[in-house]
Amino acid sequence: MPAAVQSLLGSGSAPDKLLVSALLLNIALIIFGWRRYRELTHEIAERRRAEEQARLLAATDPLTQCLNRRSMADASEQLRAWAAQRGEAIAYAMIDLDNFKQINDMYGHSCGDAVLVRVSQRIRELLPRDARLARLGGDEFAFVMPYPVGHTDRIDDLVVRVLASIAAPIETHDVTVELTVSIGLATDYDADASPGPRLDAQTLMHRADMALYHAKKQGRNRHFWFDPGMESEIRFRNQLETGIRRGISQHEFVPYYEQQIDIQTGELVGFEMLARWQSEQLGLVGPDIFIPIAEEMGLITQLSEQLMDRAFADAREWDEGLMLSINISPVQLRDPWFAQRLLKRLVANNFPPQRLEIEITESCLHENIGLVRAMLTSLRNQGVKVSLDDFGTGYASLEQLRDLPFDRIKIDRHFISELREPAGHAQLVDAIIALARGLDLPLTAEGVENEDILGALRSMGKLKAQGYVFGEPESAEQVRQRLAASGKLTGAGRLSGPLPAGCIPPPDLSRAANS
Ligand code: C2E
Ligand code: CA
Ligand code: CA
Repeated sequence: MPAAVQSLLGSGSAPDKLLVSALLLNIALIIFGWRRYRELTHEIAERRRAEEQARLLAATDPLTQCLNRRSMADASEQLRAWAAQRGEAIAYAMIDLDNFKQINDMYGHSCGDAVLVRVSQRIRELLPRDARLARLGGDEFAFVMPYPVGHTDRIDDLVVRVLASIAAPIETHDVTVELTVSIGLATDYDADASPGPRLDAQTLMHRADMALYHAKKQGRNRHFWFDPGMESEIRFRNQLETGIRRGISQHEFVPYYEQQIDIQTGELVGFEMLARWQSEQLGLVGPDIFIPIAEEMGLITQLSEQLMDRAFADAREWDEGLMLSINISPVQLRDPWFAQRLLKRLVANNFPPQRLEIEITESCLHENIGLVRAMLTSLRNQGVKVSLDDFGTGYASLEQLRDLPFDRIKIDRHFISELREPAGHAQLVDAIIALARGLDLPLTAEGVENEDILGALRSMGKLKAQGYVFGEPESAEQVRQRLAASGKLTGAGRLSGPLPAGCIPPPDLSRAANS
């Protein structure tokens, strides 16, 4: 190195060129290596940062910055282990917005998003620092938090505050939105605070979900702690759902018929069709059990049309003067094609529309009243009669009664049963009768259980009546025998023989459903 420098300065002999080149190459290599080292450490730091960022993004919900479903599972498990070490319990809460879909539909998705953000903020503000909050998707949130064993009351207090906070109006996108939530809770400690086997986060989440389902069933805007009964309730419900699906495909749903009598003449004027399920496992099941589930499952139209086909076939064999009434679910009336579908079934079954009466309840009138009116009008134009069922239990206004095309009002059986006591609340029934007369609408009294009530009704004027006093709802075959005995079967009905034995199972659940 010194020789090379001296030769460059002109005061020495030149060193070996090869050596100088090697030397310079070495220096260059050192500089290059050092710079590469610096770049590499920088790159690694950058990549770490990016990875951290990606991890964070993958773990959080981009809209609300809460944890997401995936990261919540890990976070809950960590918190659970940590709480267990400190001898604390954890509470897992599932939160679901009630009717969020309506807000989305009514005000659009950007408003819906803003509402979700506000809800997440309101929950977060109330949670302690060591709680974890997640948005599990859609309008579903969850939080998990430690608490001192035995103090579930603290969680209750907190949840009550969460419910109240979310219920306060939310102003966004120039609209004021009000919403409520339902909450399901589960803890990894038993209610009696006995330590027992600790439950893992997955089980807790599942239990909170069942409690949430229960809260929704109980009418929303409330919270429930998981209890083991809920598990069997849900299992039973799942069995029913599977059974209903299979029952439809195997045609286990059959029409029963309740007589409708003109109380002035005592004459039979028609039948109301009441659905029954001849379930292989459960026996004969009443509609109060399966209709609401079929509605929720979106199967009510299919079920109803299956029953109608049978009922039209049955009623075609009856005397032409006998009417057939069928109940229509509010869910069916949401279908804009309902009237067309019904008319199509009438034509397909060759059943005269003039002999059909449909019964709808007041709850149908809350939804899209314009559509309901149009459909009812077109059905009436074809000769179908429309009656308002369970009158007095809903909120039909006088205006609706006057404006909507009804042919008849059916007084709910709860009012009629009031007539049981001699000095009973006859005024209410009197008032309904006066109201219907004022509107020029014929009346049916339902749920007439005994002669006393029938007597009281007779004194109230011209009415149709139905109820156990005339007999309980009967199978198609029993009706056929009844009509045959009074000469009210048409030729076709008289000729066809009775159904094979075993088609009329013993009544059991069907009565339970009526009580
Ligand atoms: P609803 O239309 O009010 O039917 C009358 C209910 O009262 C029937 O119960 C009937 O068995 C019962 N009942 C008749 N007479 C008496 C009586 O004297 N006393 C008492 N306490 N009850 C009496 P069911 O058959 O269990 O039907 C319950 C409800 O299920 C019906 O109430 C109707 O709303 C609905 N439903 C029945 N079949 C169908 C259907 O095919 N489709 C739809 N959507 N709903 C149906
Ligand atoms: Ca009815
Ligand atoms: Ca009714």
